[in-house]
Amino acid sequence: MKQWQQRERARDLLSKEVGYVRKPHGGRLRVALAFPNTYFVGMSNLGFQTVYKLFNAEPDIVCERVFLPPKSELTAQLEAGTPLVTLESQTPVGELDVLAFSVSFEWDYTNVLSLLRLAGLPLRAEARSHRHPLVVIGGAVTFVNPEPLALFADVIAAGEGEALIPSFLRACQGASDRGDLLRRLAGERGFYVPSFYDVRYADDGTIAAFVPREGTGAPPVVKKAALKTTDAVDPPATTIFTPETEFGSRFLVEVVRGCANLCRFCWAGYNYLPVRAFPKDRILQLAERARPHASRVGLVSIALCDHPEIEEILTRLAGMGYSISPASLRLDDITPTIVDLLRGSGERTITIAPETGSDRLRRVINKTVTNDEIRSSAEMIFRSGIENLKLYFMIGLPTETDEDLVAIRDLTLQLREIMLAHGRGRGHLGKIVGSVNPLVPKPGTAYQWLPMEDDRTIERKISRVRSLMAGIDNVYFNIKSERHSFYQALLSLGDRRVAPAIEAAERNGSNWRAAVAEAGVDAGFFVFRDRTHDAVLPWDIIDGGMKHDFFRAEFDKALREEWTLPPKRQRENARLLPVLQ
Ligand code: SF4
Repeated sequence: MKQWQQRERARDLLSKEVGYVRKPHGGRLRVALAFPNTYFVGMSNLGFQTVYKLFNAEPDIVCERVFLPPKSELTAQLEAGTPLVTLESQTPVGELDVLAFSVSFEWDYTNVLSLLRLAGLPLRAEARSHRHPLVVIGGAVTFVNPEPLALFADVIAAGEGEALIPSFLRACQGASDRGDLLRRLAGERGFYVPSFYDVRYADDGTIAAFVPREGTGAPPVVKKAALKTTDAVDPPATTIFTPETEFGSRFLVEVVRGCANLCRFCWAGYNYLPVRAFPKDRILQLAERARPHASRVGLVSIALCDHPEIEEILTRLAGMGYSISPASLRLDDITPTIVDLLRGSGERTITIAPETGSDRLRRVINKTVTNDEIRSSAEMIFRSGIENLKLYFMIGLPTETDEDLVAIRDLTLQLREIMLAHGRGRGHLGKIVGSVNPLVPKPGTAYQWLPMEDDRTIERKISRVRSLMAGIDNVYFNIKSERHSFYQALLSLGDRRVAPAIEAAERNGSNWRAAVAEAGVDAGFFVFRDRTHDAVLPWDIIDGGMKHDFFRAEFDKALREEWTLPPKRQRENARLLPVLQ
């Protein structure tokens, strides 16, 4: 695509948008904010929209957006070498001061590299200089494990945008040159400069230490930056509306951040603590303002009902004429009032995550509900007139046996019976859609030392669940392939030695098997190794606030099939969060 065609496309997209920001560049820090996927996907990403708003809220920053071209045009654009331009002013990205990425998913790592290439920048930080924009990589993945991206970033921003952006601007304004800027950033909370560390390896290939280079001022570990409280903070919410995106008619808003349930596999639960509710009045004001542009409100929170005023919020949103879509509901959140409010706003499907079919295995993962409670919730859901249920399950959990797999089928059948009983009465049968994913042990969880279950065992379990669920009317199961999870695990659990595989996958169109072989990366070492005795884990360079001792204690409790019960969770959170002190 030629540059004039890019410009035309940009103007066409802008003409359909409401709410974008256009500022003069002169005298401001010029930031290109890149989403490593297409416009269609990126504009429905609340984190991306929030960072755009936060950057532009600073009078001394002008922030413009950049997206990956559609797949059909990507190769031609890479071959033509036409420089990538920003959406708002159609300025070549290479001419700006900063290229900041907001990365939410491991699968987008190759797209980060494609965007660097499209912008005409060297992929590796070591090959770039002060003549290039500063490349900053942030987003949810940087809390999890930034190491696979370490060689591509000048700076990794670890934490929440609200806490990171003011200090980023301060460092940029005070710096005399690129080296000075990197040193200043390394001294700020939440900024990790990978080139300031030597990574030492033990003879067995595990990491022995991250050693900060002398004279850089880099800390031994980088503390995540997070908001202490959201009492006076605007909730992240859609600020740019466009029909050209996945959730075009939806106003997305974060109601509450974090979840106190402490499920032992859940990275989001552990890493967004403490639970912080956004102010009700601001949520409602923003929703009111957005109403002319949206008919549906998407509530983006992992534990929606941890907001103390959720029932009033839902009632008032429904009163504004919104249909309401929660991302998913925690099982213990399902009350008659909540279900009725959702039904009343037009919702026909509710998503819940039993995770497994047996009470025993739910104690292992600290999902603190029982099958009895799940059946009661289903009764309440279908009685209210909701027709369909979406269920999330995992396989490959520690201590899992064949009985646990059979229990997935049994629980689904029981829920189906409840659905059919209510559906028959109404003369319309709904459906249950199940989704089954193999566990990818995640950094920053109680399972971070666990190897992923081996290919053959997972394949066997997948076949077993498929055959257990086959031929049941009104029940549809979608079961992820083992290979998909394996490469996701590599990107999630790897360190900077995985970088050549990401480069090869970017070149070959994401054929990961070939990429790993070409790069000579021993993927099994990262995915199938028991890390219990590793001195240092790749993600230890970021201090997310949770302590290893706590995770180890939780892991031991898992093996004893013991819950860490949530009733005292608020107090527990306060104790567990040294990072915010
Ligand atoms: S309830 Fe859901 S969001 Fe909360 S910790 Fe468990 S899995 Fe994570």
